Amino acid sequence: MTVCPSIHTLVSSIAELPPDLRQIAERLYMVEHEHAGSSQITRVFNRWLHEGTSFDARRVRPVPGNEAIERLQEQCESDPECEFCRSNIVRLLERRPEARVQDGCLSLTPISRFARHHRVFFSAEHHPLPTRSMRAVIEQMFSCSERWALEEQDDRQSPLRFYFVAWNILCGSAIHGHIQASLTSAFAQASVEHLMRTRLDYAARYASDFFNDVAAVSDALGLAVRGGQAIAMPSLTPVKECEVWLLQPAVSPANLPEDLLSLMTRTMLRLADDGPACKAFNVAVAFPPLLPTAGWEGFPVFCRIVDRGWPLLGVPDWGAMEMFGTRIVANDPWHVAGQIK
Ligand SMILES: [Zn+2]
Repeated sequence: MTVCPSIHTLVSSIAELPPDLRQIAERLYMVEHEHAGSSQITRVFNRWLHEGTSFDARRVRPVPGNEAIERLQEQCESDPECEFCRSNIVRLLERRPEARVQDGCLSLTPISRFARHHRVFFSAEHHPLPTRSMRAVIEQMFSCSERWALEEQDDRQSPLRFYFVAWNILCGSAIHGHIQASLTSAFAQASVEHLMRTRLDYAARYASDFFNDVAAVSDALGLAVRGGQAIAMPSLTPVKECEVWLLQPAVSPANLPEDLLSLMTRTMLRLADDGPACKAFNVAVAFPPLLPTAGWEGFPVFCRIVDRGWPLLGVPDWGAMEMFGTRIVANDPWHVAGQIK
């Protein structure tokens, strides 16, 4: 693995196993005897974002048993008790006066919010990852959310500039497909603010755009996938498995551009296609400020997708190393690029 030294630093080493552990490794990782005694650990550090990941191909997460997967698939297909499905929406609207159905999308204000202006938008489909209608589902939820953001932003003494969408697929409080949108005024969500400041520092040092240079590195390494004005690229320092960055210049405020929508749909379907169905994903989309704001000029619509495995089945993928040290990931960016191309 080689990466651009001006953005990333890389260290690769071979970790040897003592002879008495080789047999266990052979069985655990199902590798040939001659490969059981050592493994390659590659550590990559992004010098601008101060984020890093250790890649070890043997740290593949366990796949739950068929019975558990089938049970989860049934819950994804339909749930007569789901309060967000069409058959039960009337009862929900009676209980929650602030809930609305507009353009085929149910929306409500969550009781527990992460910002004062926080709204949840439910897809017309119960299935959180409907492979046959994925593009329509994403388009519907994001266009309903866009309309809300633009309406909320009007006529405020303290302008709501920062629009952010978080989407938990099978790793949130409800299985029914839904996204969470927030609008904030003083500063953006912390990780987005961090990216913006990194981009400013990078431009001051190199007179170049950070995202353009990351894309150029991905192109040079054969990792990038382009679709019109949008680009998708596996992160070289993924936060967890199969993280992909997607971006495109903004077209209009709070709008998910067409090319990005198409590439996002394609990327999610390709990632979901790997292994048993009903895997969980985290998706986030950060938008440039809704109003002209110093320092944010040219900031793109920026999306991150991460494969979370099966948290609903009690298979954890996040531990002390991820929280306080370095992310430990099995799939390297070339494996991910092979999946999404
Ligand atoms: Zn439902």
